Amino acid sequence: MLAMPEPDRAVLARRAEIIAALRKIAPGEGVIDGERERRAYECDALTAYRQTPMVVVLPETTAQVVEILRYCKANAIRVVPRGAGTSLSGGALPLADGVLLGMSKFNRIVEIDVADRCVVAQPGVTNLAISHAVQGHGLYYAPDPSSQIACSIGGNVAENSGGVHCLKYGLTTNNVIEVEFVTIDGEVIRLGGKHFDSGALDLLGVLVGSEGLLGVVTAVTVRVLPTPPGARALLIGFPSVRGAADCVAAVIGSGIIPGGMEIMDKLAIEAAEAFVHAGYPLGAEALLIVELDGCAAEVDHLVARVEKIAADHGAASCRASQSEQERLLFWAGRKAAFPAVGRLSPDYLCMDGTIPRKEIGAVLLRMKQLEAKYGLRVANVFHAGDGNLHPLILYDANKPGELERAERFGDDILRLCVEVGGVLTGEHGVGVEKRDLMDVMFDEIDLAQQQRLKCAFDEANLLNPGKVFPRLCRCAELGRMHVRGGALPHPDLPRF
Ligand SMILES: Cc1cc2nc3c(=O)[nH]c(=O)nc-3n(C[C@H](O)[C@H](O)[C@H](O)COP(=O)(O)OP(=O)(O)OC[C@H]3O[C@@H](n4cnc5c(N)ncnc54)[C@H](O)[C@@H]3O)c2cc1C
Repeated sequence: MLAMPEPDRAVLARRAEIIAALRKIAPGEGVIDGERERRAYECDALTAYRQTPMVVVLPETTAQVVEILRYCKANAIRVVPRGAGTSLSGGALPLADGVLLGMSKFNRIVEIDVADRCVVAQPGVTNLAISHAVQGHGLYYAPDPSSQIACSIGGNVAENSGGVHCLKYGLTTNNVIEVEFVTIDGEVIRLGGKHFDSGALDLLGVLVGSEGLLGVVTAVTVRVLPTPPGARALLIGFPSVRGAADCVAAVIGSGIIPGGMEIMDKLAIEAAEAFVHAGYPLGAEALLIVELDGCAAEVDHLVARVEKIAADHGAASCRASQSEQERLLFWAGRKAAFPAVGRLSPDYLCMDGTIPRKEIGAVLLRMKQLEAKYGLRVANVFHAGDGNLHPLILYDANKPGELERAERFGDDILRLCVEVGGVLTGEHGVGVEKRDLMDVMFDEIDLAQQQRLKCAFDEANLLNPGKVFPRLCRCAELGRMHVRGGALPHPDLPRF
């Protein structure tokens, strides 16, 4: 059972007064306090965990965000920022005594700067809307989470989101050049700018991926890129997972950086093919989708090189798209893979860990052994080029104990990622999902160091508490965090 910070009874006792004060700051529809309406915010896409927030506030201006945060700080009220609520790690899970600060009304593109090839957007703008806004100029925003039709750019910044094209064009952190955010003290800070490099500490890099723990993002400037003149995709079937995994490492090792390189295992291939009829090789144990982009001559040259590498690694089939329509069809199966797998089982847990590319084959084989241990099936569809795994663990929440079994299975997969030299998350963040596994990757000193950074921004730990860190530390105590003889320091502090 997931432990969250104990609700503050003193805050709950003042609920009516708090709502009245927030109404003054965000009048009209800016405050949602009805039981039924608040329930719409009770979870994000990690639906296994739910909590109705004390109140939902939907500010429209940075000035309102400043006032709300100042009020919450002064009254020791916890705040959970929320974008579109598509987080898969429970990052936007509300607190019973907290304000759920929804940023959906920040939905405007503020500026399209073609000369500097960037876009300034409010945080509630969806990822895909940025590309739509600049497509007339032959430009697009490269990081493309599968949820891009719904997820917000503010959420992308908070989670450092990725997608198929991030292998070649970088994650959110590589494409965000400026962020405006408000601290819990109500201070408005701008980091970065349209210029290259800031010449100071890379605080922008600290903020991207900070999961709503350091401040509330109110504006984001992203770099946009020229749309590649052409692209072709290859569908490569392998008789073994090992062959496909080795092929991934060999392609990158040869110096080719594909626009995207995704892998699907047998279960995922069969589910996607039955759903979309994309022409996937049904007998294959593994499928690679490799996209090469650029001008026509370069693309054709790279297609031939990848075909050769695939053949050298035992590919059983290899088809290159001959038209734009066929390229999109090849991708349609991958894009629909999650809902397609959803047809195989009432529920699934989507994991997210990253490993060195050369370990993909070994890790997929170990996952097969874990399937037998837990008696649950796994479908694998993931960003092979980045070594970013997304095992989907199939389970049935209506069967007693299956969710817990699936979670233990997921924990073992993430431990395995760390064991082979990888990390706990590639793009979905830690949130509550991986919070209690942070010790697998970081020791007490690392965690204390990270919490000191949190304290520098939010000393009272009011912004999104209960996420990311497996233990709450009072900032004053962090100066004397030492582990002696393996004993956990400060046993009086809340442990989740
Ligand atoms: C079907 C599906 C497919 C997905 N595919 C991908 C994928 O390919 N790649 C990927 O990276 N992710 C993927 N995700 C996960 C998710 O879409 C991303 O993490 C996304 O960035 C979350 O954005 P959001 O607006 O929904 O944020 P939310 O879920 O609302 O919040 C996520 C986190 O960001 C914080 N936050 C949100 N807005 C702000 C703000 N303005 N200021 C400060 N903190 C804020 C929240 O507190 C929370 O910690 C997928 C999710 C689904 C459901």
